[in-house]
Amino acid sequence: MPRTGYVYHPLFFWHDTGTAAGLAPANPPAGIQPLAHFESPDTKRRIHELVHVSGLLDNLAQIRPRPATDEEILRVHTLGHVEHIKSSSAHPRGGDAGDGYSPVGQGSYDIALLAAGGMIELVTAVARGEITNGYALIRPPGHHATADTGMGFCLFNNLAIAIRHAQAELGVERIAVVDWDVHHGNGTQAIFYNDPSVLTISLHQDNCFPPNSGLLAENGEGDGAGCAINVPLPPGTGSAGYQYAMDEVVIPALNRYSPDMILVASGYDANVLDPLGRQMLGASTYATLTATLMDAADRLCGGRLAMAHEGGYAASYVPFCGLAALETLSGIRTGILDPLADIVAGWLDQPLLDHQRKVIDAAAWLVANVPLPAAATTAA
Ligand SMILES: [Zn+2]
Repeated sequence: MPRTGYVYHPLFFWHDTGTAAGLAPANPPAGIQPLAHFESPDTKRRIHELVHVSGLLDNLAQIRPRPATDEEILRVHTLGHVEHIKSSSAHPRGGDAGDGYSPVGQGSYDIALLAAGGMIELVTAVARGEITNGYALIRPPGHHATADTGMGFCLFNNLAIAIRHAQAELGVERIAVVDWDVHHGNGTQAIFYNDPSVLTISLHQDNCFPPNSGLLAENGEGDGAGCAINVPLPPGTGSAGYQYAMDEVVIPALNRYSPDMILVASGYDANVLDPLGRQMLGASTYATLTATLMDAADRLCGGRLAMAHEGGYAASYVPFCGLAALETLSGIRTGILDPLADIVAGWLDQPLLDHQRKVIDAAAWLVANVPLPAAATTAA
């Protein structure tokens, strides 16, 4: 049995975000010419096809997604939000998940259930020891969705739904989320903001999306005090800055929290070519970040590590970032090399700069607020 699981289904690429001028809904009378929505299937389909063509697919444990049940979705989301997505999805022209930027296509409700259920199945296989780690190439994404609304292209919070399932059904008590999407993992943070059984750590571009979200001061509340950590990295941060954040914040926080499983909100929109971020990571960075988290998972929780796909909008480059993460998880090299490695090397190799260090050092002070295992209680 391969050590790495992989969740995929063609329907994930059938979630129809329609035409838009990138973000703005098309509106010819207002001068907004229809184009493709940023959150189109292309990037994700190209990741999957590269995983297939490279031969890696044959060496992964393919895990079949299934729709999440009402009970599983309602552990995280309000009935009102679920009904809104369902009714929008039934309309021939769809609707929006909540913020005006998150299209719901006809039938997207069922595809969103399949995405959440796919992440549940991946986490289940990891929790049961059938695989050591894995990747769910699911769509629509989830990390911006809060309990009562979708936003930022997200309908249901796939990761949060899988976490609640793991805690309710699989005996997994303490879970850490590392979100390296370039945007703040606001939805996941909000859902667990008062909950000491989930540690959320988000590395994101400062004040990118959502606006005014993901500040250092957002550190959890009530019983969850200390259980939310944000590292709002300045635009233009490269591999050295991200690795410094891992070494000084993420890994010390994980060591202190001692989770039973580590989950990753894996967006690749901090890549150097992305239209929706201004960071400077490459495929090699994602391999290194993955290896760093695997090392932590080996030490802390038997290697249990599961990734949920989130953003990433440079269709030409993201597939190589995804392949790098999957090669690292599986320990298998396909021989496919990053075709842009030489071109982007100078960007990625930017040294850690003082203004980046300052933010990361400030976030490192928050590690002391992370509750030790004995101090935490399990969520009901
Ligand atoms: Zn993103």
